[in-house]
Amino acid sequence: MNNEIPIGSPVRTQAIINRYFVKAKKNLGQNFLVDLNAIQGIVQAADIRPGDQVIEIGPGIGSLTEQLLYAGAKVFAYEVDDALPEILNNELPRQIAGVPIKDRFELMMKDILKANFKADLQDFFDLTKPIKVVANLPYYITTPIIFFLNESELDFASLTLMMQKEVADRLSAVPGNKEYGPLSIAVQIEMKVTSALTVKNTSFIPKPRVDSSVVVLTPLVQKPDVGEIKHFNWVVKMCFAQRRKTLNNNLKNLVPEADKRAELIKALGVDPRIRPEQLTIAQFAQIARAIPVQK
Ligand code: SAM
Repeated sequence: MNNEIPIGSPVRTQAIINRYFVKAKKNLGQNFLVDLNAIQGIVQAADIRPGDQVIEIGPGIGSLTEQLLYAGAKVFAYEVDDALPEILNNELPRQIAGVPIKDRFELMMKDILKANFKADLQDFFDLTKPIKVVANLPYYITTPIIFFLNESELDFASLTLMMQKEVADRLSAVPGNKEYGPLSIAVQIEMKVTSALTVKNTSFIPKPRVDSSVVVLTPLVQKPDVGEIKHFNWVVKMCFAQRRKTLNNNLKNLVPEADKRAELIKALGVDPRIRPEQLTIAQFAQIARAIPVQK
C-alpha cells in the first residue's frame, strides 16, 4: 500500500486492518476514524501549530496521530492495546519534514488513567511550555478521563476531545437544559467548553451506535469561587441524586431539618419547588457553603 495515502482514509485503514488482522476491541472502545475531513476538523479545532506539544490518548492505528504530526506537532501518545505498537511503527511516516519520527513521536504503553504526566513526559517535552491534549476518546472511559485531566498536576493549554455526542451535550449544557448536571458543572467551574464539530457514526470502523462530537476545553482565566472543589462536586451530585424531584427533596439527605432546608432555599431566592437542573453554579456554590465539609 502506498504510504502517501493517509492512514485515516477508508482504503488505507482497510488495508491496515487486512494486513495485520486487526479486530477492533470493543472492550477498549476501539472505533477507528476513517474520515479525513473529521480528522482535519479535530486538528484545526486544536489549533495545532508547528512545534506544539501534544498528548494523544489512544492513537489506535495512527490516523489522527499522522495528521497531528503533519501539522507540525510533537506527539506523545498513551495506548493500552499491545497489537498497536507494531502497526504504528510500520505505518506512520519514517520522517516528517526531514526529521526522524523518533524525534517527533513517542508511544507509551500505559493506561491514561495511570499517567504520571511530569515523570512520563519530562524526557520528551519541555514542561515549561504549553501542552495540548488531543484525542478521539475510548468512549467507555470518557468521563473518568475528563475528570483525570481536569485534576491533573499539569495545566493543559487545551483539551480537544472527541466523544459521544450525548456526553458532549452534557459538557456544554446550561441551567434549564435536560442534559445539565454534575458533569456539566464539574467541567464548567474549571473550563470553557466550546463545541467544534459533530461527526456521523458512519465515519468510523466499526460504526458506533451513536454520532460523536468534538469539544474544546480551555482553562478558565477566572474560575468561579465554589469553595473546596471536591466538597462542591459532592454537594452537586447529592442535589441531582433524583433529578426529577425538587431541590427540597434532594436536599433531605444533606439537611435533614425541614426548617433549615426552607431557610436555605429561601436564601437562594428561588421558588421552593425548583428542580436541581434550574440552579446556576453560583447557587450550587451557595448551597455547598451552607453544608459542612465531610472529613
Ligand atoms: N485515535 C484512533 C482513531 O481516531 O482512529 C483510535 C481511537 S479509539 C476511539 C480509542 C483508542 O484508545 C484505542 O486505540 C484504544 O486501544 C485506546 N484506549 C482504550 N483504553 C485506553 C486507556 N485506558 N488508555 C489509553 N488508551 C486507551
